[in-house]
Amino acid sequence: MTTFKLPVRYYSVHTAVPPSQLTLEFAVTAGKCHKCRAINYDKKYPFLCNACSFCKYAKFDFTLTAKPCCTVDPIENEEDRKKAITTINSLLEKADRIYKQLQLHRPALENLGIQVAEHSTDRPEDGGGQGGGVSGSAVNKSIQHLALKYCGESKSSFDKLSKIIQKVLACRKELVDYRDRL
Ligand SMILES: [Zn+2]
Repeated sequence: MTTFKLPVRYYSVHTAVPPSQLTLEFAVTAGKCHKCRAINYDKKYPFLCNACSFCKYAKFDFTLTAKPCCTVDPIENEEDRKKAITTINSLLEKADRIYKQLQLHRPALENLGIQVAEHSTDRPEDGGGQGGGVSGSAVNKSIQHLALKYCGESKSSFDKLSKIIQKVLACRKELVDYRDRL
């Protein structure tokens, strides 16, 4: 740490002289934030800057690891229990609808997969006749459709279904906990 030589006046001005009359040296050295240049008139060497929270003495690195989790209302009484069962039933109905949607994506994905496979076996012949640059730069339409369907529609349905199932499991856990407490 650098030691600043403070003008003697600092010690007396600290309480007696208004901030506007502080010496230039004081502003340059003590109490001035290295980062935002804000001046702390109360503390000579503040641990944290009172304007931007910068700290010249210590550095903290925080790493947060988080994952999405699912919570549901706790079950405290019979009314809550009934509510939880209703919630589970409606969630299961919703899950069933999404599952059916997912199943509908399957044949389309399989067809596109076959098209992609067929195209990849055709390729050696195409490459001989035409310039390789054209087929190389433009992505195969079947692959585009497949990617769109798989990563877009199918994935969003799958994510929705997963969230619903997590919620159902959380509700069931609350139900079991409630039953065990009785
Ligand atoms: Zn600052």
